[in-house]
Amino acid sequence: MPQFFVSFEKIAGYPPANFNRSWSQPMKCPKCEHRENKVIDSREVREGCAIRRRRLCLNCGHRFTTYEEVLRAALQVIKRDGRREELSREKLTQSIAIACQKRPISIQQIDQMTGSVITQVEAEYEREVPSTALGTKVMALLEKLDEVAYVRFASVYRRFKDVNQFMNEAERLIGRE
Ligand SMILES: [Zn+2]
Repeated sequence: MPQFFVSFEKIAGYPPANFNRSWSQPMKCPKCEHRENKVIDSREVREGCAIRRRRLCLNCGHRFTTYEEVLRAALQVIKRDGRREELSREKLTQSIAIACQKRPISIQQIDQMTGSVITQVEAEYEREVPSTALGTKVMALLEKLDEVAYVRFASVYRRFKDVNQFMNEAERLIGRE
């Protein structure tokens, strides 16, 4: 404990008798609805994103569990036409799956790509993410995994203007090998 820490006990009159119970643990007992309880165990879960607490009701002795976690508003995707819609894991998975049709890519791999893209954009964007940023991230993953799926996806997301643009992309891929 750091030197400059002054504990409440050293200040006359503090803490108030019910400090712990009424301020930091207002959770009602699910059995008797009593508000006073004691935390008997506290641990981080989901890699520090949540805290799980075991509590003991001071009235009836019932033990119960509470979770505390940060709530984050879902990211909004800014579409090309400027409209916003909530980032949907399902939709993203589907757009990747379409590009991967009949390719040697498993559902788990598609799911992993979706998860990876969502984690990346959640780290980089606060509230809104352009749909093009999602597309670029998916393409970066697909390019490493399967070139056919990559070109299929790119043709949708980059909106190849004509056959030449598509051919250029295909040649770039072929030339790389
Ligand atoms: Zn109780």
